Amino acid sequence: MNIDWKNLGFGITKTDYNVRCYYRDGKWGEIEVSSSEEITMHMGATCLHYGQESFEGLKAYRGTDNRIRLFRYDENAKRMARSAQGILLAEVPESLFQEAVEKVVHLNERFIPPHGTGASLYVRPLLIGTGPQVGVKPANEFLFIIFVMPVGPYFKAGFKPVDVMITRKHDRAAPLGTGHIKVGGNYAASLTSVAEAHQKGFATTLYLDAKEKKFIDECGPANFFGIKDNTYITPESHSILPSITNMSLMTLAEDMGMKVEKRPVPVEELEEFEEVGACGTAAVITPIAKIVDAEADKIHLFGDSNNAGPITTKLYERLIGIQYGDIEDKFGWVTVLD
Ligand SMILES: *Cc1c(COP(=O)(O)O)cnc(C)c1O
Repeated sequence: MNIDWKNLGFGITKTDYNVRCYYRDGKWGEIEVSSSEEITMHMGATCLHYGQESFEGLKAYRGTDNRIRLFRYDENAKRMARSAQGILLAEVPESLFQEAVEKVVHLNERFIPPHGTGASLYVRPLLIGTGPQVGVKPANEFLFIIFVMPVGPYFKAGFKPVDVMITRKHDRAAPLGTGHIKVGGNYAASLTSVAEAHQKGFATTLYLDAKEKKFIDECGPANFFGIKDNTYITPESHSILPSITNMSLMTLAEDMGMKVEKRPVPVEELEEFEEVGACGTAAVITPIAKIVDAEADKIHLFGDSNNAGPITTKLYERLIGIQYGDIEDKFGWVTVLD
């Protein structure tokens, strides 16, 4: 095996094993280990036709002590259960989810990047309806699968500010739709607007609320936050996916003596923020230097276009410090695997 750990991007790399569990006849079976990257299913599977699928994303980290750490994966288990309830998938019990994560990480230990490379092992659980239906109905058979791959930073430039654009021409999720759960359909709905942003030279799209276009919603596939007057502010909305990274940053901000507000954030408030960013497992924090709102003829600039602001940087360093085991885990977020 010859992996250039320091130059890994965020993409698919084949690893040794994945784990699978089938739901048939009303119950979950045993966890199976596979070395195939392929899955076989009926061509009428509901995941293929009606988007009956949910996924998760988390990371395993290697500490200076060489031990393996998992970050708040109980929260991923709970979120996948909420996604399952939202689109009538069979719910994966929390204990099965956790056992499967631990198993697949152990089986692929040699792919967990060494400490200090800035890389980690990305863990991707997937839950799909595999039973065939041609009428619009939930499947009666499901597959829960987890595969892993070593990844570097989500953006090649690393922890550097990006530019994003506001769009009013597309919505990612409807006001009472499925934006609050982690399902593939939301991503399908985002592809055109994100492709348009890329084509115009932006990292991603900043969505406004679908109903009135007055409030800030998701930032591409990540949550948005802004900082002003020693306050960490993040939008509250039914169409936003509750990010575990954002939840953790709110706790850290409070711990650093900041105020935290989770509430609707009017788009005009962009004028007032000192620092802004997007957050999620893949990139942790993506600082934002510029937000272009072409339809409102506005450009919002935040600090230095080459460097993240001081509070964003401090939050980022504290969070990755805890994840890699370099900083004391006083909130009990990290599980060290034996
Ligand atoms: C997964 C996801 C996030 C980030 O959630 P984390 O738990 O922090 O990884 C944010 N927004 C959307 C739409 C997502 O799917």
